[in-house]
Amino acid sequence: MRRKIVAGNWKMNKTFQEADELINEIIDGLDEANQKNINVVICPPFTYIELCTDYAQESEYSVGAQNVSNNDSGAYTGEVSAKMLHSMGVEYCIIGHSERRKYFKETDHELTQKAELLLKNDILPIFCCGELLPDREASKHFDVVKQQLGNALFGLDPLDFAKLIIAYEPVWAIGTGITATPDQAQEMHAYIRALISDKYGKEIAKNTSILYGGSCNAQNAKELFANADVDGGLIGGACLKATDFLKIIDSF
Ligand code: PEP
Repeated sequence: MRRKIVAGNWKMNKTFQEADELINEIIDGLDEANQKNINVVICPPFTYIELCTDYAQESEYSVGAQNVSNNDSGAYTGEVSAKMLHSMGVEYCIIGHSERRKYFKETDHELTQKAELLLKNDILPIFCCGELLPDREASKHFDVVKQQLGNALFGLDPLDFAKLIIAYEPVWAIGTGITATPDQAQEMHAYIRALISDKYGKEIAKNTSILYGGSCNAQNAKELFANADVDGGLIGGACLKATDFLKIIDSF
């Protein structure tokens, strides 16, 4: 079912003490806020997942991971599997973030493997896609996103695909303070929904949540979320301050 989602990607930030403080400030705000059926997802580093899942038992948010291994289990030093995440109470996992594509050379094939392993372990993938600035300048942004979705996800069977969440994150907007305009976001989200409809049919397309990410903040979230095909946001920098993150949640 199509849900409104606001997910906060903490990336590689915060000490344990700072993470504890941040999650408690968010919880206090969530307790006060009228949540309007918005799914709030906190994606801390692996090291703070247990902290966040423990508190989540008494609060109204879910916990997501920022990455997962593309292998099931075994001798992969430093990796964390979908099965492990599930056993910790993780419900969502970001895959294909542009930082992982760029710095860790994640491939489409690995993203397919990650999506399959997550789904097998009852974790909902938040699949990131989005073009680089030169792609947009060359008017190739639709082609790039089509390829990313097609290569990594369109081999999944419909029942699996229907569980995915898509995050459109133009790379030029991530961490830059430059946000896609509401029209640019809506245009791409509608395009993604049309691609899904062509591949998997209208019903699945209608029910897929498509989030926007890229310098979304307390000031611009309302305008972005007001668009028909924008079902929420994947938030980076602005989720590291509880007051900003809570304002974004309140922007629906
Ligand atoms: C992100 O990295 O997913 C992101 C959206 O970051 P920021 O909000 O800081 O642009």
